[in-house]
Amino acid sequence: MARMVRDYLAEDGPTFSFEFFPPKSLDEDRLLWKTIRELEPLNPSFVSVTYGAGGSTRARTIEITEQIASDTTLLPVAHLTAVGHSVAELRSIAGGLAAAGVTNVLALRGDPPGDPEGEWVQHPEGVAYASDLVRLMRAHGDFCVGVAAFPNGHPRSVTLEDDTAQLVEKFRSGAEYAITNMFFIAEDYLRLRDRVTAAGCDAPIIAGLMPVTNIGMIRRSEQLTGAPFPAKLGARFAAVAHDPKSVRAMGIYETSKLAERLLEEGVPGVHFYTLNRSKATREVWANLALGARL
Ligand SMILES: Cc1cc2nc3c(=O)[nH]c(=O)nc-3n(C[C@H](O)[C@H](O)[C@H](O)COP(=O)(O)OP(=O)(O)OC[C@H]3O[C@@H](n4cnc5c(N)ncnc54)[C@H](O)[C@@H]3O)c2cc1C
Repeated sequence: MARMVRDYLAEDGPTFSFEFFPPKSLDEDRLLWKTIRELEPLNPSFVSVTYGAGGSTRARTIEITEQIASDTTLLPVAHLTAVGHSVAELRSIAGGLAAAGVTNVLALRGDPPGDPEGEWVQHPEGVAYASDLVRLMRAHGDFCVGVAAFPNGHPRSVTLEDDTAQLVEKFRSGAEYAITNMFFIAEDYLRLRDRVTAAGCDAPIIAGLMPVTNIGMIRRSEQLTGAPFPAKLGARFAAVAHDPKSVRAMGIYETSKLAERLLEEGVPGVHFYTLNRSKATREVWANLALGARL
């Protein structure tokens, strides 16, 4: 029987995982497979593949997760969003994934296609929230389902308390773990964990980390999280912005330091946003001496 993310989380020690996105061209496809082959020897607990806002990359998510399941030693997690899908389509995708041996899914609501900051419109025959998709997947078969968590709150949440309540609702709907959006300060994660614990929930929350390797990624992270980049850290990057090598070195150092602190705090897992490249992730990995797990 295929292993599930839940099995890795139940074992002693934190999980380590990597995230990829579906390539849009042949060159990007080659780069992704090179990256997968370079990261495979690190023996991660699982790797996940994001689901696009629409179009052909959605089919690619399913193809790539299937290919990872059949051609590598890695455990794939397929992201799936509710955007633009009826319940019947979501069930059909679930059936296709299960038939291909992909039984680990990250269930997301997704953002409005075209304009991520636009108004979210539910498909007329679809579901409204990630918690509905969690219930749908759990009812469909033996899927191990994860969800998204937001250390600084989802940009649409009115209050952090409301945001926490909705995350807890996802766990109560059957999600077995969450992966956080990227964050850069350990306290942001720790406060989220405290809020969830205070709500009477002890589900594992995996920390999502993205090493800043160029100055443009700071702005990008703000677009992706909807949260401002921490001011003090931003000032340190700004001081070396004229020297790309120093920016990169600082990004690797800061991510290594953050991961180390989180591991000391007993985080159940660390998830790397790789942007389909392996070098920065391998460098942080080496700094953490994670090789001891191999
Ligand atoms: C680890 C991770 C991976 C991601 N992968 C992808 C991906 O592959 N593809 C992609 O398109 N996007 C992805 N995203 C982005 C995500 O889809 C967006 O952030 C989206 O806006 C929210 O998704 P969600 O699953 O958290 O939604 P939800 O949990 O449904 O929450 C969305 C908003 O609605 C609120 N809410 C939830 N339930 C209720 C309710 N019952 N009543 C009222 N309000 C409610 C929440 O508080 C929140 O403000 C990812 C995000 C993360 C952190």
